[in-house]
Amino acid sequence: MRIKEAIKISRQHGLPDLEAHIIIQFISGKTKEFIIAHPNFEIDDEKFMELIEKRKTGYPIQYIVKGKEFYKNWFYIEEGVLIPRQETELLVEIAIQYIKKYRLEKIAEIGVGSGAIIISILLETQTIGYGTDILEKALEITKLNAKRLNVEDRLYLRKGSFLEPFKDIYYDLELIVSNPPYVKNNAILPPEVCWEPKEALYGGKDGLEFYRNFLNKYDLSGKIVMLEIGHDQGGFFRKLGWNVEKDYSGNDRIVIFNGRR
Ligand code: SAM
Ligand code: GLN
Repeated sequence: MRIKEAIKISRQHGLPDLEAHIIIQFISGKTKEFIIAHPNFEIDDEKFMELIEKRKTGYPIQYIVKGKEFYKNWFYIEEGVLIPRQETELLVEIAIQYIKKYRLEKIAEIGVGSGAIIISILLETQTIGYGTDILEKALEITKLNAKRLNVEDRLYLRKGSFLEPFKDIYYDLELIVSNPPYVKNNAILPPEVCWEPKEALYGGKDGLEFYRNFLNKYDLSGKIVMLEIGHDQGGFFRKLGWNVEKDYSGNDRIVIFNGRR
């Protein structure tokens, strides 16, 4: 079918044109500009209909086209890792500021997922990264993105919980970042989120389980720690004396412990 017919069909199925464009880009390998300029260009009918049907079930567009733009780069993603969220870019921005201010060299991330956070930081700084995840798939995808974006030689990845796999060098780590699972177990999430790994999302009854376990496990003296939190979890950290930063929507989003001061 022609591109213009494909867009008409996707409208009839209730999908925004933007998503039709993303799907057409994916199956044709053409740019967005080409697609807009060539409405009569023929694309694969069967493939298009298959992906439209899949999208209609609520399956995330980012899993269909296997990618997501995050911070300054495009990251490869697939089912089995969390789709990086825009609000998480704030964690990257603040981390880069601290790295520059304190000239930090060794940074760790707990729960790398697709690698979006730690790879974005490595690309903007001259640091060495240490990443963990409990999911093998996450380490696989992070490694692939690190190769694609040429930071493979500065990123060490090990499978395991928290920073246990890097116990041997824990003392040397200067900055620890994480966007951990913080959704309450009984939270009602948008239908698209149910395709994402539950290990990436759920943080126990009140969503704070990861944070409590982390704080019980590690001595943070001398370190800087930066964590993403849910919009209603700032109070827990304010009581501990941490700084709480709001995201662009005005929600509490990043908490910071500064053991350097
Ligand atoms: N950093 C990625 C991002 O921001 O897009 C993924 C974040 S996702 C919310 C949380 C990640 O942490 C998942 O990949 C999950 O498998 C991992 N994870 C959950 N609990 C963990 C733990 N105790 N230790 C290490 N990784 C963990
Ligand atoms: N922000 C994600 C969501 O609301 C949750 C990610 C997380 O738990 N870290 O779906």
